[in-house]
Amino acid sequence: MNDPARGGLLAVHAHPDDETLATGALLATWAATGEPVTVVTCTRGEEGEVIARPGSPTAGLATLEGDGPALAAHRETELAGALAHLGVRDHVFLDTVPDPAQDSVQDSARYTDSGMAWAAPGIARSVAAASLPPGAFVAVPLDEAAARLAAVVRSRRPRVVVTYEPGGGYGHPDHVRTSEVTSRALQLLAEAGDDLPELWHAVLPDDVARVVRRRLAASTEVRELLRSVPYLTLPDLDGVLPPLVVPAEQLGDVVRVDVGPVAGAVVAAMRAHATQVQHATCSTPDLEGPGSQDGPLDGREDEGMIIGWYALSNDVLAPIGAHEYYVVRTPRPPRTQETSSDPQYR
Ligand SMILES: [Zn+2]
Repeated sequence: MNDPARGGLLAVHAHPDDETLATGALLATWAATGEPVTVVTCTRGEEGEVIARPGSPTAGLATLEGDGPALAAHRETELAGALAHLGVRDHVFLDTVPDPAQDSVQDSARYTDSGMAWAAPGIARSVAAASLPPGAFVAVPLDEAAARLAAVVRSRRPRVVVTYEPGGGYGHPDHVRTSEVTSRALQLLAEAGDDLPELWHAVLPDDVARVVRRRLAASTEVRELLRSVPYLTLPDLDGVLPPLVVPAEQLGDVVRVDVGPVAGAVVAAMRAHATQVQHATCSTPDLEGPGSQDGPLDGREDEGMIIGWYALSNDVLAPIGAHEYYVVRTPRPPRTQETSSDPQYR
């Protein structure tokens, strides 16, 4: 990481598995320094699909799909396992935080996964589900969820809060809402005169996004995997890129996290989410493979390498790149009275 961890980190995520898929290397790297790391999860992923192929270790779990409470309980255990692999010891479900505006005795909110549909086969982009379940996170009033999150931030006092960019990473309505809730929580803290943490958004430079897809498709190991596991497919190399992909030249102030040193922990955390993530594999960089004709990106020779892959329930392989990227959306915490109420969101 080109900005060494110091002070606390607080990550805000929509569902179990997002902490690993979107920010796994950052969490593991930060936790390894001994600095405090907190993960807040807004829902329990109870509307999601369940990977339960006959003959697989999760084959007996097929009945969880569609059974919200049972799936929520199971995903809580998967999440606990993943966090243990990442070294994260502090976890909070957002709906368990007392609503500052309510009598806690009456407060029995349960935020649930709002559901989603894949935009199209082979496209890692999601859209809203046809109907919303009770308690859907996207229907929770923005200030209610933000006030709970602000209370968590106030109690932990992290140096950095990290979540998705406003497009929600890959478009899931709960991810978009999680990004909105996080920004609003920081606004509430600024209005109350609290010191603000930095806000980081997980992104991916567009040139890296294209190169890692090509390298995935060209990997010898991946081509062998596709031959032996016929239901897996590759991402569409010319397909629409998800919202987290941003033009490299517009990135500005970026924190780059090396995945390699913590790749074992990240892949183990992915495997802990067995009902959501499949074929999570660590590979060695395929420097001499057929994808190497892409060459390094301009002056950034170790970028664009892949160090593994995984697939979600849509059976489309996704690369694990050699780096995670974060844009810093707020300036350093304000030091003076004049700027403390003006977070200057960019
Ligand atoms: Zn999610």
